[in-house]
Amino acid sequence: MNKSESEISYTGKYTPLSRTELVKKLQEALTPSRFNHVLRVEQTAIQLAQKYGESVEKASIAGLVHDYAKQRPDADFIRAIKQYRLDDNLLNYGNAIWHGVVGWLFVAKELQIENIDILKAVEYHTVGHQYMSKLAQIVYMADYIEPGRDFPGGVSKAREATEISLAAGGVSCQTQQTLSYLIENKLPVYPQTIITYNAWVPVQTKE
Ligand code: GDP
Ligand code: FE
Ligand code: FE
Repeated sequence: MNKSESEISYTGKYTPLSRTELVKKLQEALTPSRFNHVLRVEQTAIQLAQKYGESVEKASIAGLVHDYAKQRPDADFIRAIKQYRLDDNLLNYGNAIWHGVVGWLFVAKELQIENIDILKAVEYHTVGHQYMSKLAQIVYMADYIEPGRDFPGGVSKAREATEISLAAGGVSCQTQQTLSYLIENKLPVYPQTIITYNAWVPVQTKE
């Protein structure tokens, strides 16, 4: 039994569900491999919360729910984008962007999570944001460096950077690597990804 299963009992401040109930909902919503990723992100987020002084309970909840919408049909997202009058440009993207930027709405509704810090951490976990709370930074990093992640070069650099500092180290490193990866592979860049880059990566702002 790992640490969270043996020790974390939720206070009820952020969700009326117990950790066991939340885990069960994630297991039902996700494939086994995605579910295991979510458990590793939770563990990594808890470790970062302990290291950088954030609530372990919020880190656990946000880590568990961050990819809740990952396996939903496109039609659910398209309906939500229209219903909630979100940015029309979202319709030019797909699940990779939607599961966070739109998916937090399903987390709020279906997992009964109202805490704005947790919901923003879910919203921002893929494309980041110019203003990310410590919790949002932790989820953004935990998702990228959890022990199951293995992409050449980048992941070890990001792990080392996160060890040194969260914002100037990890967040900056991941944001730079993601934009480089998208450009290298001629993938479309969601505008928020560029805004996030400008907020976290350049060392000199006036050039
Ligand atoms: P995961 O859900 O745990 O697999 O990880 P993420 O939510 O962080 O990322 C999902 C995917 O979105 C990754 O493959 C990222 O490279 C990709 N991604 C992030 N930003 C952008 C973007 O601006 N444009 C596109 N096309 N993909 C992006
Ligand atoms: Fe994700
Ligand atoms: Fe993830």
